[in-house]
Amino acid sequence: MKLIRYGDYGQEKPGLLLKSGERIDTSELTTDYDETFFENNGLEQLQKWLTQNEATAPRVSDTIRLGAPIARPSKIVCIGLNYADHAEESGVPIPEEPILFFKSTTCLVGPNDPVVIPKNSQKTDWEVELAIIIGKRTSYVSREDALDYVAGYALHNDYSEREWQLERGGQWVKGKSADTFAPLGPFLATRDEIAEPEDLRLWLSVNDQMYQDSSTKQMIFGISELISYTSQFMTLLPGDIISTGTPPGVGLGIKPDPVFLRAGNTVRLGIEGLGEQCQKAESFTES
Ligand code: ZN
Repeated sequence: MKLIRYGDYGQEKPGLLLKSGERIDTSELTTDYDETFFENNGLEQLQKWLTQNEATAPRVSDTIRLGAPIARPSKIVCIGLNYADHAEESGVPIPEEPILFFKSTTCLVGPNDPVVIPKNSQKTDWEVELAIIIGKRTSYVSREDALDYVAGYALHNDYSEREWQLERGGQWVKGKSADTFAPLGPFLATRDEIAEPEDLRLWLSVNDQMYQDSSTKQMIFGISELISYTSQFMTLLPGDIISTGTPPGVGLGIKPDPVFLRAGNTVRLGIEGLGEQCQKAESFTES
C-alpha cells in the first residue's frame, strides 16, 4: 500500500494512493497515520479495509495538497555520512560506526511544499535520502529481527543549513531543524511494495541541473544495521523516522565553489519506487 495524507497543513486526512493512480480517503478507518494507528496493527486493518472498500471509498482530487504521509512522530533520527563518496566530498573519514543526529519534528512538511530559506541563512543545502518509517515499538533489536519493525519507506529531503550545522559549534541539530527542512513523501510505501530497498536509484536536481544521482547500494551501513544500531541507544516508537544518509552531490561539496539555494530555485528529487518531490525555494518572511 501507499499511504498518503492530504489537505491543508496541520489538518491532513489519511488516504491511499491506489495502483490505478487514484487517491482515496481512508478516514472511515482511522483519523490519522500516527503512533496509535501503527501501534494497533493499523496497517493490517487498513489492508483488510482496502480489500472491502477500494471500489466505493471516497475519491480525493489529485489537485489537493499532499502532506507528509505520517503524522508528526516522536523523533526524526538521521544518519550522517552513510555514503562513502559523500564522506569523501565532505573531506572527512568514513565513519567506523553510524553517526546519529536529530532533526526537529517540526520541520516535517509535504513533498511539494515550498522550502523556506530560514532567516539569516546563507548556506541552505539539499540531501536526497531514503527514510525508514518504524512500525512497532522496539529497543535492543537484533539485525536479524530489525526489518519486522519497519512500516515502510519514504522519500526525504534532509535540508541542511551548513553554517549553522558546521560553523556555529557542536551538534548538527541547529543546521537541520528549520521549518520546512524535512519534506517527506509523496507516500509511505509499505515494506511489501519495495523488494530491494538497498538497491534503489536516488537523485536530486536544482533548476534542472542534476546534482545527486546514486543508489542506496552505496550505503555504508544497511537498513537492518541502522535500525538495530539506533535501538541500542533509544526506544524507537511507531511512526519514528530513520533517515539513512545522502549520496554525494550536496551543494557544500561542489568544487571549486559550493552552491547553496537561493529564493526562486526549484529542487526536484526522487527515489525509484518512492515517487518524486518538487520544492520551490522561498525567502523567510515575518508573519
Ligand atoms: Zn542527511
